[in-house]
Amino acid sequence: MIFRTPSYYDQFHCIADRCKDNCCIGWEIDIDDITLKKYLSVKGSFGERLRSSISIENPSFIPDVKGRCPFLNKDNLCDIILNIGEENLCDICNNHPRYFEWFGDVKEGGTGLSCEEASRIILSSSFSLSEKEIPDEETEYPDDENLFDFLLSAREKIFSYLSDENIPLQNALYDIYEYGYTLEEAVFGKDFSVPEIKSSGKKFSPDTDEILSFLLTLEKLSPEWEPYIISMKESYKGEDFFIKETDKYLRNTAIYFVFRYFLKSVYDGEILPYINLMAISVFILAFLFYKSDHSLETCSQIAKNFSKEIEYSEENVEAIKNLLTYF
Ligand code: SF4
Repeated sequence: MIFRTPSYYDQFHCIADRCKDNCCIGWEIDIDDITLKKYLSVKGSFGERLRSSISIENPSFIPDVKGRCPFLNKDNLCDIILNIGEENLCDICNNHPRYFEWFGDVKEGGTGLSCEEASRIILSSSFSLSEKEIPDEETEYPDDENLFDFLLSAREKIFSYLSDENIPLQNALYDIYEYGYTLEEAVFGKDFSVPEIKSSGKKFSPDTDEILSFLLTLEKLSPEWEPYIISMKESYKGEDFFIKETDKYLRNTAIYFVFRYFLKSVYDGEILPYINLMAISVFILAFLFYKSDHSLETCSQIAKNFSKEIEYSEENVEAIKNLLTYF
């Protein structure tokens, strides 16, 4: 089967002790059955430590009082890797922050924005796709291959439109939003000739105050998020926040959202909601980036925090997908 990823996929390497927001803190990390069996059979004092740090009923690591994985040592390095090797990490630790999606004999994958190192790479790297052959895996097949090919070609057009710096990003977002309606109509009418994206000259410009108020109604995952958004909202004075300093980061983030989510439409029939998720996310990030020092380091931390609040919560993703917006 084909494995398709953004070309920067292999650039990602966990920065471990240099990470400011380590993903081994603050989450319950589940252990898959195969790894659990291995851990239960490790000999010696490290085997004993493993067994005393695992919850067997609900296979997972028992975090310490500060919410740290019990194997994250004081230098923020992983004692499992240090003692029994990286090859013995459980699936979650091995894969994070990678995500995968299967479409028949095509598997797509990337690295998620919720990791600060992945976020740096996503924001700063030009987008192109790479493909390689991998052994077959168990997979779901799209019911309608015509629809799949249609969505794949439409996605290519969206990538090109977002990458074209001659089209101001806010205009591109509006036109792609309209394109979502056109695609939905085409699918409804079973017309699988792929339309072009039309330039309208209009800007994607929902009411910023309303969007920020909406953001505050969502499920909050970290205690810092709500006060941060409130202070950002209070500081908004009607400025134009799509600025050239952060344009590249925003375009790359928009493409990340399209690559990661848009093809899911082949399974759930939703097209516009995935465009909504991309456009609203980019709109919010444009505002938050504008309020920062515009550096890659700061913008990637903001994007990472946004992703952890939104992409880690199915409820929040659904709320943004279905936010009714018309401009
Ligand atoms: S968030 Fe990313 S860079 Fe940081 S520890 Fe986790 S995988 Fe590594």
